[in-house]
Amino acid sequence: MPKAQETLLEIDLKALKHNFKYLKSRLNPKTKFMAVVKAYAYGNESCQIANYLQNLNADYFAVAYVNEGVTLRKAGITKPILVLHPQAVSFKTLIENNLEPCLYNKKILTEFIKALTTEYQENYPVHIKFNTGLNRLGFWQDDINFIINKLNETKKITVKSILSHLAASEDLNEKNFSLNQIETFKSLTKNFIKKIGYRPMLHMCNTSGILNYPEAHFDMVRSGIGLYGFGNSEEENKHFIPIGTLKTVISQIHTINKGESVGYNRAYKSNSTIKTATLPIGHADGIGREYGKGKGFVIINGERAYIIGNVCMDMVMVNVTDIDCNEGDEVIIFGPNASAETLAETANTISYEIITGISQRVKRIFTGC
Ligand SMILES: *Cc1c(COP(=O)(O)O)cnc(C)c1O
Repeated sequence: MPKAQETLLEIDLKALKHNFKYLKSRLNPKTKFMAVVKAYAYGNESCQIANYLQNLNADYFAVAYVNEGVTLRKAGITKPILVLHPQAVSFKTLIENNLEPCLYNKKILTEFIKALTTEYQENYPVHIKFNTGLNRLGFWQDDINFIINKLNETKKITVKSILSHLAASEDLNEKNFSLNQIETFKSLTKNFIKKIGYRPMLHMCNTSGILNYPEAHFDMVRSGIGLYGFGNSEEENKHFIPIGTLKTVISQIHTINKGESVGYNRAYKSNSTIKTATLPIGHADGIGREYGKGKGFVIINGERAYIIGNVCMDMVMVNVTDIDCNEGDEVIIFGPNASAETLAETANTISYEIITGISQRVKRIFTGC
């Protein structure tokens, strides 16, 4: 790749393929793979990524909201798309685009059946989500009879899968809690299947669940962060390659004398002569205020340059006093050799937040196509 001359998010499709193949290698060959591409494929770009995964034979896609599914359909995704968190107001659009809703409470189930009545559909595929401990979305076990009664009243829908979500799959200190969730899911699905009289697919594992709970892969797994190159532990990270590299360039170098300040509110005051580099990336690109004041850093010519003063809307200033560098040099914010996880930790957050926060104004380019 030529050196970056502006802020760019480079997306390596070869790394995506590697991560996909690695995750698949951890599954029974019969287990289906749902690629979670919500939130612009975790801040990368969802259309090319989903198409690439469709060509690699991913079985299913998942998004959070209906509009994300519509974008995928327009981009040529023909595989089934699960909408994890639909709202009733967008059911008409969901149906028109042949998206499959995750139904998580009595209200949303009732409203979906109503939406189908006006759309003249039969056997529309839906997915029933149960809460087994995350306490975020999902029916309770006690709702099973309500669901079965609703299903018996109508031919409009058919249950394609039953799912749940682990609360702490990456945290082995919570292993007993996770095993308990898995057992609860097994027993409630057994009960559900007996009552409904057919066997929908079962799934509950996200990336960390795939890696830590092979006994809970069931018929399908749902992976997001792993595809994008994070295994959620030091040991597992070795098997993954981050697909995104966020790069920028040095716009200007300043010499700051003792007693001078840098940036808004004079947040950095120098007590010696230092050298700073101004970079064209800021809040509006996804760099939060918490990275300022010496916490976050970027990599310039292999060395860490810490952000000094406050992060601005469109820029940050970094300390390059001891770094041999010039205006026009490339800067790495994160990538395979500069972990987004390590950078995230400097602001007390996690990789998911920094990568999904890269704003749409940052140009995306693809490599390894
Ligand atoms: C986002 C999400 C996933 C993917 O989780 P990762 O940890 O990124 O693999 C799976 N299932 C549900 C319900 C989700 O919301």
